[in-house]
Amino acid sequence: MAQGLRLVLIGPPGAGKGTQAQLLREHVDLAHISSGDLFRHHLRQGTPLGLRAKEYMNRGELVPDEVTIDIILGKVMSIPDDDGFILDGFPRNRNQAQELDKKLTAESRNLDKVVHIDVSEPALLRRLGGRYICRACQSPHAIGLGEDASARTCDQCGGELYQRDDDAPAAVKKRIQVYNDETMPVLGFYRKRGVLVEVPGDDTIAEVNKQIMAAVDVPTARKL
Ligand code: AMP
Repeated sequence: MAQGLRLVLIGPPGAGKGTQAQLLREHVDLAHISSGDLFRHHLRQGTPLGLRAKEYMNRGELVPDEVTIDIILGKVMSIPDDDGFILDGFPRNRNQAQELDKKLTAESRNLDKVVHIDVSEPALLRRLGGRYICRACQSPHAIGLGEDASARTCDQCGGELYQRDDDAPAAVKKRIQVYNDETMPVLGFYRKRGVLVEVPGDDTIAEVNKQIMAAVDVPTARKL
């Protein structure tokens, strides 16, 4: 069922959703829709949407549904019927999940799998504290404790690395709390529909990737 697969990746901040979405796309041709990347793009461009989203993002809170839902659902529904997609960072609360469900059901394009990448809180705090992003290509990098981030450049393109404002400790705490309060209930919604698969996410990137590929039925040997 690999081609045309419709997937959602759910996990706490720092679970590696973006990284795993990129790895999946090396094996299957799927559109990648990341709500966080979309907001950061608008923020960099200084659009009204970016400016509105910024205050919530910097506090580690969710951007309000009336801003988020239309823009993400517009992107999802613009994908041709037979093509697949990976949704990364959406839905993040029950209302978003219900609105997505309504749209997809109306077009008989239900989700194939919702992958929950489960990571323990100490591991998240460690990862987010050392996460630096490339300004040019947005690739995430892990900087070790005591390592000087300013001495490093992007492994992919040589760009400058920076720490996201919402990876600062206070915002990280808030984002984890918001995840526990608002996003965790979404797991029950998908469990009831029989599409939820659980993948432990404390392991290495490669191991988590292997488990996700098995869970969503993508043969590891096949490369596009
Ligand atoms: P992420 O890169 O997925 O961690 O998202 C960064 C920030 O963007 C989040 O902390 C939220 O402020 C905002 N955001 C991303 N996706 C959503 C969403 N589905 N609903 C509301 N806010 C979101």
